[in-house]
Order: sequence, then C-alpha cells, then structure tokens
Amino acid sequence: MKKYRNVVLKIGSALLNEDNHDVKDFIDNICQQIKTAMDSGVKFTIVTSGAINEGQQILGVNKRPKQLESLQAMAAIGQQSLMRRYEHSFKELDCFTAQVLLTHDDMNNPNRFLNAKATLGKILELEIVPIINENDVVATEEIRFGDNDTLAGMVTNLIEADLMIILTNQKGYYDKNPDRFPNAKLIKKCDIKTLDKIDFDINDKSDEGTGGFKTKLNAVKMVTTNNTTSIIASGYEKDTIKKILSNKQVGTTFYI
Ligand code: GLU
Repeated sequence: MKKYRNVVLKIGSALLNEDNHDVKDFIDNICQQIKTAMDSGVKFTIVTSGAINEGQQILGVNKRPKQLESLQAMAAIGQQSLMRRYEHSFKELDCFTAQVLLTHDDMNNPNRFLNAKATLGKILELEIVPIINENDVVATEEIRFGDNDTLAGMVTNLIEADLMIILTNQKGYYDKNPDRFPNAKLIKKCDIKTLDKIDFDINDKSDEGTGGFKTKLNAVKMVTTNNTTSIIASGYEKDTIKKILSNKQVGTTFYI
C-alpha cells in the first residue's frame, strides 16, 4: 500500500461555482478530509482557481470577460472572498491557512523559486495549509500560467510532493470526450507514454476556467516525469481524498 505524505490538491473553477452545487458544503467537506489526513501526518497544499468566478459573482457579471485587465480586476475582487471560504471552513476545524500568490516569473527566477520553496516548506512545517493561486493581477499575457493546472504541476515539483490530485467536474480521463460520446470509457490507470496516441479532443475547456484536459495532461506529464503520482478525479463525489489516501480506485491514476 502506497503511503502519501505530501499532497498537492488542485481545485478547479467549476467546483467553486454556486451555479453547479453548494460551494460551502463542498469546501467544508474537502477541508474535513484534509484535516483528517493532516492529523495522521500528511501535508496538504491547495492550488485553487475560482477568484475570477468569485469576482464575477460579487459584481453580478454573468459572462466571463475576455480582456486581460478585466479578468485581472475580477480576480482581485474575488480573491479575498475565495480565501475567506477556505479560511472559515478550516477555522471550524482549528486549522489555519496561508495565502500564497505565485507567477510564472517566480518559478523561473532561481532566487524567487528558492524563496517560495523555503516559505512553503515552513508553512507546511507549521501544519498550516498553503492556499495557492496565480497572482493574476501582476501576471501579463506572456508570463501567465493562465490555468491553475500548470501552476499545480509546478508547485508539486517545487515542494517535491509525492501526489498531485486534480479535482474537476469529470470523473477522470476518458478514452473519448464523455460530453459528446455516451460510450466514452473512463481510463482507470493510464501510462503517460500512451497519452499522445489517444484520440480525444483534449482541447475542450470548461466554461468557468481556462484549463481543459490539455492543460491537465501537461501538468500530469510535468509531475509524472519526476516520479510523482497524479490522479484526476471528480470533485462532485464524496470522500475522494479519503479514498485516494487509502489506495482505493478513484478517477484516473497516471503512471510512467
Ligand atoms: N487564477 C484564476 C482564478 O483564480 C484561475 C485560472 C484557471 O482557470 O485555472 O480565477
């Protein structure tokens, strides 16, 4: 049985949209599972999307803006409220959170990279949950991660986590796009060497976020080549984290 000790959990925008489900219930449930795991010695880092969405909900803007500065403004408006959700849920469990905002530049600059690594290491040592998002406000088009899948992959490598979980609105990785093909089959275990051969429209994007399966699979490749396990699973199912940590089959597990 594989024992994971240091986990990065990526939560996509669709899971933080009130139109899709009760977000408070969802976050409460995730935080509860994380706290249980932390009590048995597992370190957890959350990479969360949802700031732009949250900003849109605060201002009552239905359609996701297209212009970079509008997206950045929405992110700035929504980020505190997004953090507050995690902070409240964890506080109920006597657990603290730390906000960490990163850009591509931080990962490419050796000094900033090492600073971020040391700070995250210290936060985890204090048994506090780092909640990471892209620093959308200062990231220009050229240097944006743009999607938090890539950010989650980079963070996983940065802190040398042994597991990356991407929670999304699909049950995992399918052999075809399940939204278009009712006979699409969920791939439970996937050798990353086969990824390039699969005939699947991986460019499909969710309406709420900027990632699609393409960015998820790139993040998976990024960490799997570092020998880290990654799992893509549904955020709509109960006890996903608990099941994964007890080695039960959930979603798609990627291996090399
Ligand atoms: N940083 C963006 C936000 O918080 C999310 C990027 C993405 O779509 O993953 O809204």
